[in-house]
Amino acid sequence: MQFVEFAEICNTIEETSSRLATADILAEKFPSLTEEELPVFVRFMRGKLFPDWSSEKLGFGPNLLYDALAYVIGKKRDYVVSAINNAGDVGKVVESLLEKREQTMFFSEELDLLDVNERFLLMAKSSGRRSQQERLRSAQYLLSNATPLEGRYLARLMLEEMRIGVGEGVVKDAVSKAFGIPADVIEHAHQALNDLGEVASLAKTDPSQLTEVHITAFRPVKMMLAQQGSITSMVETHGKLAAENKYDGSRFQFHKSGGKCAIYSRRLEEMTASLPDVVGMLDKATDHDVIIDGEVIAIMNGKPMPFQTILRRIRRKHDVGDAQEAITLLPWVFDILAADGETLIDQPFLRRRQILESVMNAYVAPQLVSDSVDEIEAYYHTSLDNGNEGIMLKVLDSPYLPGNRGKLWIKIKPEVDTIDLVVTGAEWGEGKRAKMFGSFLLACQDENGDLLEISRVATGIDDSMLSTLYDLFKEKIIAEKGKTVSFEPDVVFEVGYAELQRSTNYAAGYALRFPRFVRLRDDKDVYEIETLESLTRRYSLQNKEE
Ligand code: AMP
Repeated sequence: MQFVEFAEICNTIEETSSRLATADILAEKFPSLTEEELPVFVRFMRGKLFPDWSSEKLGFGPNLLYDALAYVIGKKRDYVVSAINNAGDVGKVVESLLEKREQTMFFSEELDLLDVNERFLLMAKSSGRRSQQERLRSAQYLLSNATPLEGRYLARLMLEEMRIGVGEGVVKDAVSKAFGIPADVIEHAHQALNDLGEVASLAKTDPSQLTEVHITAFRPVKMMLAQQGSITSMVETHGKLAAENKYDGSRFQFHKSGGKCAIYSRRLEEMTASLPDVVGMLDKATDHDVIIDGEVIAIMNGKPMPFQTILRRIRRKHDVGDAQEAITLLPWVFDILAADGETLIDQPFLRRRQILESVMNAYVAPQLVSDSVDEIEAYYHTSLDNGNEGIMLKVLDSPYLPGNRGKLWIKIKPEVDTIDLVVTGAEWGEGKRAKMFGSFLLACQDENGDLLEISRVATGIDDSMLSTLYDLFKEKIIAEKGKTVSFEPDVVFEVGYAELQRSTNYAAGYALRFPRFVRLRDDKDVYEIETLESLTRRYSLQNKEE
């Protein structure tokens, strides 16, 4: 497939507001793509360059893009930056700058979808002193051979931000439609494979494999998540339940196979190099090949330390030796996804737990199995007294649903109303904070994963956090106009608030009253932020209580 055709389809979809029509466009195209093209096409449509399980990163931010573009159009970098700052949409600016250049072009090569993919792989793989230079050269190559429309989508792909409204759900519907496969089969295969590209490709070439998918070592799957709920209603609905401590740490997935081990964060980034002690402990605790789910906590002077301590430790990748002495890390494991090559996610939790206990000789999280509200409440209070966040309630016959935030896992913790939102922009501060970002613009997501702004937050951020945030965000600036900057939406804040209000000031239709920064959620991905649906639920719940 020529890349220009891909760009034209993106353009058609961008101009379509109907989800159904988008799925139809995709479904119509899928069957004609080759086995190699289909997964790439699917990933690119969603603005992804690599499978979701992959830790691969392009290593290409807005700054390199500006350099590459300036080179290609033969203008100074400042010219490009100010054009982008004035317009905001990077893709469209790249397109219009390439349009102006077009008249002076004599020769260019046609870009092919698979060649573009190869280039991206090359960019991601390049490392060492010359890597920036190599990435820049690849971007220059791509942009100088691109038509203006191709440029629009190349730029957005390189920043991994397509924003054409193709979410996971639309792709799943399209695969289902194109190859006549039931939605639940696709859902299940996607949970295990964690790459919609591969799901689409199997749907085309060998649909029977979609029902027999296996979780593979060193390809992490998304973690199962929890909803808020109450002990009473859980016992009423399910009777006997498992209750576990809700550890205030960092989620991990540990893989061991053929003597090799790896550990992944909740965002599925590989953390093996920064957590050598945890990897060593888990490795020693089992002789089996396993894929295990757990939470690592930090202990200082015998006591669990708050979550932030672990993050500091994880970030300090370079002096792992020093950090290891100050804080001890302790993993707790509470689920098992595969053992000795057998995928276990469809087994009931009770059975998985038995297998977990039989393959691990340490670190299995204690559990209370009970149908007594009183007993579970007592367990909850003991858990809080021991420095945990609360408890988790798990339905005994539930499968493991990767990436799912359903009613099978319920978290019980003291009431504080906080939500996770992504930061889309900021304003420069004033006075002594003039060289820092002062207030941050926050967004939630709708059902397509599109971001909708909902609030600003400035309260609750101390000077040291402000400078941490400055360092973090200065690499993520996409555009700047006056005092306002917009960021690549990549960083998640946990934000407290007093009340949710209806509002026409923000695209979400809601605003937060008294928003307050609680903490940086480095462990969370953009796809995990608060949804409009959940906000609507919160809003009606809040008003019912009044
Ligand atoms: P939250 O981050 O508030 O949505 O709560 C869910 C998180 O609690 C999970 O993602 C885990 O990181 C953490 N957690 C702590 N203890 C457990 C446990 N026993 N079972 C499952 N998740 C746990």
